[in-house]
Amino acid sequence: MTIAAPSPSVRSSARDPIFDELGFPTDPDNLYTQTVGTMINAANTINMRHRVKIILAQPKNEVMVHFPVRMDDGHHRLFKGYRVQHNNACGPYKGGIRYHHDVHLDDVKSLALLMTVKCALMRLPLGGGKGGVKCDPKSMSAGEIERVTRRFTAAIMNEIGPDYDVPAPDVNTNAQIMAWIADTYMSSVNAQSANDGLRVVTGKPIDMGGSLGREKATGQGVVDCLLEMLPGLGIVKDTSGFQGLRISIQGFGNVGSWAGRILEKKHGSKVVAVQDHTGYIVNENGFDTEALAEHVRQNGGIAGFEKAKGNTPGIGGTLVSEEEFYKTPVDVFIPAALEQMIKERQARWLNAKVMIEGANAPSTPEGDAILGERGITVIPAVLANAGGVTVSYFEWVQNKSCHYWTEETVDAELNRTMCMAARRTLVCKEKYRVDMRSAAYCASLEHLAKVYELRGIFP
Ligand code: NAD
Repeated sequence: MTIAAPSPSVRSSARDPIFDELGFPTDPDNLYTQTVGTMINAANTINMRHRVKIILAQPKNEVMVHFPVRMDDGHHRLFKGYRVQHNNACGPYKGGIRYHHDVHLDDVKSLALLMTVKCALMRLPLGGGKGGVKCDPKSMSAGEIERVTRRFTAAIMNEIGPDYDVPAPDVNTNAQIMAWIADTYMSSVNAQSANDGLRVVTGKPIDMGGSLGREKATGQGVVDCLLEMLPGLGIVKDTSGFQGLRISIQGFGNVGSWAGRILEKKHGSKVVAVQDHTGYIVNENGFDTEALAEHVRQNGGIAGFEKAKGNTPGIGGTLVSEEEFYKTPVDVFIPAALEQMIKERQARWLNAKVMIEGANAPSTPEGDAILGERGITVIPAVLANAGGVTVSYFEWVQNKSCHYWTEETVDAELNRTMCMAARRTLVCKEKYRVDMRSAAYCASLEHLAKVYELRGIFP
């Protein structure tokens, strides 16, 4: 299918009357207001009923907890944690938990809303949620991280559950942390149902009920989406065109490194520029992404890899400035770090044909508008990074049925689900004549609107 050129974004800056009706802040840089703005614009495009729009504009529940944890030096520190449950009309709340010094309620609310939109777009029987603990795990020992995890789990014990709210990993959390959450939960609930408590989180280690293919799933989903979309965008003729395709990646953690590794090792693409919180490196020959991922595992970031020596041209590189990183010519740019990193300035610098969002909400509305003006196609996060929650759903199904799938089955089911959602998005792009982000939201909201029509609103 040929994809039409981008049409004007419905991510307009005009303030919808719903914001005043619900008493939203007037600060245009507020991430939650921005996220709701995108959703409301798409809701208006599909003529969604007012009652559903106001329900989706606010989370159902916002839980905030404070809890003390004994640190290694013996003193106690008070931590703040969040769990936001945005919507469960389609199924249990679902969404990651992140550990970061800069976690705020509004960010968590935005990410929870994105999960509702994402799960509905993928047609998963799940709702949207998100959580976080305000902390800097990079400065904490493994013991301190474990105690924070267990105390946080205890603090939100009554808010989560295998059929109610199912967290997963996100920034700075991983399979080990999920294992501690599951163990704390299973040790605290009724012994007769303890084993079923395994389903309280996904993204668990394979030896503890995790799914094959979950760790790489978000990166794999990004690649599946590119394989489905790039031929239609005219960037490659067919999937053989991925050989030598030039890629840049922002954030070389779980999502960025897996997307990079799969593109390089499986499809022969060239990852020529990478960035993370420690710096910017370029290598015109294309990085050996496996070696780079190993360097990040050992050193906590990409810094220092530019000096690495090896027998292949993919080892080492050149340190560059932020501007040079963005201006490196590439076919595809994959932001896979944090929110709101692509502002107006970065959007003007970016020298890419396509930006596929591995990270959630990586651009601001202003950045997005510049990308649109410059003809850079954006494949939005609600579609592009949905591989993680999709395989999380597969893990939850496997735990529920006690029947475990092969990695081939997981990959094939993931590919099928990603391709169906990509096609749904393209259909809405044609139907409503909007850009790809709006189209993905429309495809999701059409489903949510139908669910609310069928369920009605109690009483
Ligand atoms: P991660 O912790 O594994 O990696 C985060 C990366 O971001 C690291 O490489 C870090 O260096 C980089 N980073 C942090 N601050 C930065 C800064 N100021 N400048 C540049 N880089 C910076 O996290 P992850 O799981 O890969 O998540 C990355 C993004 O993908 C997040 O937006 C997350 O919400 C989203 N996401 C993750 C998953 C998943 O399954 N892990 C699923 C869907 C979406």
